[in-house]
Amino acid sequence: MKRFSGKFCSVLALFVIIAAASPGCRSGVPETASGKPAPLLLISIDGLRHDYIGQFDSPALDRMIDEGLYADSLMQVFPTKTFAAHYSLVTGLYPGTHGVVANSMWDPQRRQFFSMRNRKAVSDGFWFQGGEPIWVTAERQGLTAATFFWPGSEAMIKRTRPTYWRSYDGRVSHTRRINQALDWLALPDSDRPDLITLYFSRVDSRAHRDGPAADSVFAAAAEIDRQLGRLLDALENTGRLDEINIIVVSDHGMSAVSRQRTIVLDGHLDLTRVRVSDWGPAAQIWATRMPAEKIVAALEDVPHLRVWAKQAIPERYHFGRHQRVPDVLAEADPGWLISSRQRMSRPDSPAGMHGWDPALAEMHGIFIARGPGFIPGSRSPAMASVDVYSLMARLLGLKPAKNEGRPDSFLPYLNGSGPSPAYEVRHFDCSGTRLEVRTGPEHAAVHLAPHIFVLERSGKNTFRHADLEFRMENNTAQGRLDGQTLSRCRRQYSEE
Ligand code: AMP
Ligand code: ZN
Ligand code: ZN
Repeated sequence: MKRFSGKFCSVLALFVIIAAASPGCRSGVPETASGKPAPLLLISIDGLRHDYIGQFDSPALDRMIDEGLYADSLMQVFPTKTFAAHYSLVTGLYPGTHGVVANSMWDPQRRQFFSMRNRKAVSDGFWFQGGEPIWVTAERQGLTAATFFWPGSEAMIKRTRPTYWRSYDGRVSHTRRINQALDWLALPDSDRPDLITLYFSRVDSRAHRDGPAADSVFAAAAEIDRQLGRLLDALENTGRLDEINIIVVSDHGMSAVSRQRTIVLDGHLDLTRVRVSDWGPAAQIWATRMPAEKIVAALEDVPHLRVWAKQAIPERYHFGRHQRVPDVLAEADPGWLISSRQRMSRPDSPAGMHGWDPALAEMHGIFIARGPGFIPGSRSPAMASVDVYSLMARLLGLKPAKNEGRPDSFLPYLNGSGPSPAYEVRHFDCSGTRLEVRTGPEHAAVHLAPHIFVLERSGKNTFRHADLEFRMENNTAQGRLDGQTLSRCRRQYSEE
C-alpha cells in the first residue's frame, strides 16, 4: 500500500505548543512543510452518474480509486439539480435550508425570480445567504480560496468572496481550467490557495442532448479524465501530488426521458391560477389564485405523478421549510417529466434529465478522493453529499459553520484513524422484496431497487435517517423505508 510523505499532526502533536498554534493540526491531518493545511482541490464533473465509472476509459480516476477513498456513490439532495446540489455540497445544508431550491426559483418576499442563466442573479448574494459555503468558511478563518467555477462562487456571501474567482463561462477550455489550478498550486505558500474548486459541465450537457448512456457522454467523461490525468502527472512530476487532497464529485446522475413520457400540466390544472417556478422531473407550484388544497386535489390522481402540499413533503427530502419552497410540490415518476403545452411546443426536447428523488440510484453521483488526508485503497458504501462540507472543513483544519451533515461518516476513512475500514455486504429477502445492505463503520447504504438509501449508524446494528430506520440481527432484519415496512427479512447467504 502506498505511503504518503506528508508531515503528520500526530507527530507534531508531541510538540504541544507548535500544535496549538497550527490550525491544520486541529484536524489531525497532514500539513505542508510550511505549516499550512494540505491544499484541497474540489472537482465537480456535472452529471457523472455513479455507474459510469468503469464504462469509459478513466486511468486518472482509476488511479485515484486505487490510491484513495472510493464511495460506491454519492447520494445527493432534493431537487437533484445543479445549483441546489452544488450548493449543498459546499455548505452541508439541504436546499430546503440553504434556499437554493432549484436552478429556477421564486422568492415570495422579494417577489423575484432566480434563473441560473441570469448573470445578475447568480452573482447576487441574496440567493445564497442561507448557507456558508466552504470558501467563505476558509476565507473567514484566514485561509485563501480560489474557484474556477462553482454555483454561488460569484456572489458576495457573508461579505466574503473567494480571493480568486471567475464569472461563469462554459466556453473556457478544460485545458485552461486545469492549467489555472496548477498555476495556483505553484504559487508561493503565502499566496497559494488552500482551497480550489473546478467545474466541468460537458458530461451533463451531452447526456441531456443524447441520453444518459450515449457514446458522446462517455467520450466527454474520458476527455475530462485525460485532463485530470494531466493534473495528477504534473503534480507528481513536481513532487507535490501526495501533499494535495483531491476530491472528485458529481452533483447528480441522469435518467433517460422522452416526449412520450411527459405529463402536460395544463391538462389537469388551470395554469393562469398558479405560478410554476420550476419544471421538469419536479414542478414547484405556487398557489396564487387557487388554494393549495385544490391544486393537490387536481393533481393527486394524475398517473405517473406524486403531489404534496408543502407541509406534507417527505421528511427525508428535508425540503418543506424554506420560504422559497412552494405551496405544492409535484414529482413525476422516474423517467417522466412535467411540462406544459407551451413548453412542449419548443423544438428541443431532452433525451436525458435529472431532478428526481435523490435516493433513486440513477440520481446518485460520484465521490472519489485521494491525498494525505485519506486512507489509501479504502472503499465505502454510498455516502451522502451533505457530509462533504464537514469533511472539507476537517481536511482544512477549519471550524465548520452549522450544517446538516454528519462528520462521523467520513472519519473512519481519514488518515490517522487506523487501517482501511471494514465494508460489509449482506443480502436479505423480506417476504419477496430483496435488498442489499452495505455497511461501513458509521453508516449504511440500503440498496432497495430502484433506490439506494444512505442511513447513519445509530447503534450497533441500527441505522437511521429522517423517518427511515433499519435494524439487523444476526440472520434477520426489519425496517421502515419510505413508507414501506420491511419485516420478516431473512439473510440470504447464497449470493455472498
Ligand atoms: P442543469 O440544468 O441542472 O443540468 O445545469 C447544468 C448547467 O448549469 C451547465 O451546463 C451550465 O450551463 C450551468 N452552470 C453551471 N455552473 C454555473 C455557474 N456557476 N453559473 C451559471 N451557470 C452555471
Ligand atoms: Zn448538474
Ligand atoms: Zn443537467
